Amino acid sequence: MNLASLLEWASGLGERARREEPLASYTAMRVGGPADLLVVCRTTEEVVEAVERARAAGVPWRVLGGGCNVLVSDAGVRGLVVVNRADRTRIEADGTVWAEAGAPMAALARETAARGLAGLEWAAGLPGTVGGAVVGNAGAFGGDVASVLRSVTLLERDGSIAERPADWMAFAYRESRIKRLPPQERPVVLAATFCLTPGDSAVLAARVEEILTWRRTRHPSGATMGSTFKNPPGNHAGRLIEAAGLKGYRIGGAMVSELHANFLINTGSATAADVRALIRHIQAEVERQFGIRLEPEVEFIGWDADERG
Ligand SMILES: Cc1cc2nc3c(=O)[nH]c(=O)nc-3n(C[C@H](O)[C@H](O)[C@H](O)COP(=O)(O)OP(=O)(O)OC[C@H]3O[C@@H](n4cnc5c(N)ncnc54)[C@H](O)[C@@H]3O)c2cc1C
Repeated sequence: MNLASLLEWASGLGERARREEPLASYTAMRVGGPADLLVVCRTTEEVVEAVERARAAGVPWRVLGGGCNVLVSDAGVRGLVVVNRADRTRIEADGTVWAEAGAPMAALARETAARGLAGLEWAAGLPGTVGGAVVGNAGAFGGDVASVLRSVTLLERDGSIAERPADWMAFAYRESRIKRLPPQERPVVLAATFCLTPGDSAVLAARVEEILTWRRTRHPSGATMGSTFKNPPGNHAGRLIEAAGLKGYRIGGAMVSELHANFLINTGSATAADVRALIRHIQAEVERQFGIRLEPEVEFIGWDADERG
């Protein structure tokens, strides 16, 4: 790995490039140590250049969107972290919606509903970006990315840019072809095209408000990664954790939410190690009591062990 050559390139980027930058403020859980180098990209061209530079230098890299579904270790991340803030969107009259991967999903949901296009209301209030939502096949309220995605634009491993149809993504519940790949073999999502259908904008806007209210009242506020675990088939992770008596359970500054047991909260002083220990404790306790092994929905970044937890 030739970090020095990457740092030399980054020195010409000014404010956008940050050395030894703590990642806590780039993640929803507000934990995580430094990246060797962090580069904030506001255009797709900048994302492509940063990733290609890292590849050429043999430096490991990782793209972050909103950092809403990841647990970054206290040791941080070796190599480059690219923060994708490329957020242009285009909404066509025929219901085709194109968005760069750094565009916030929640804003896209609100805007398409207001324009009388149905299909993304479920994403109202969904934290994070289009890229993160595509990789994790985000979903809620009966909808998900898989059901509305037409195609994705990808930066492939060989540096080419390709348009892939949605079925290439091999989506499953909170899973995609990209999420199943080891991080260094993943393509980068540069943009996504969604296929929406005409609807009544007043009805759609009302549904968006209803979902926002639901989220406000049922989800804890503050520093959290959202759902920590996937729901096991025919069951709910939150219900199992609650039934295991773990609501309010704490390790260090990390706590199981009293409001929604699948949400872990950083009470202010949590380390990533606290959160990881709490995740392991929940897995062990739920398995001991119910014989069900909860699988994390969140991804672990910068840990020695398997990234899938
Ligand atoms: C309060 C709260 C509520 C939530 N509610 C829901 C919910 O209802 N439904 C749901 O599904 N999720 C929910 N989540 C989880 C989260 O919002 C989603 O997983 C979201 O899609 C993550 O997007 P992100 O941009 O933050 O991704 P990140 O956390 O930044 O990244 C997630 C993964 O995607 C990769 N990635 C990100 N961008 C790209 C890219 N452009 N190209 C390639 N890889 C990329 C990252 O490397 C990482 O592996 C919630 C989270 C919170 C905090």
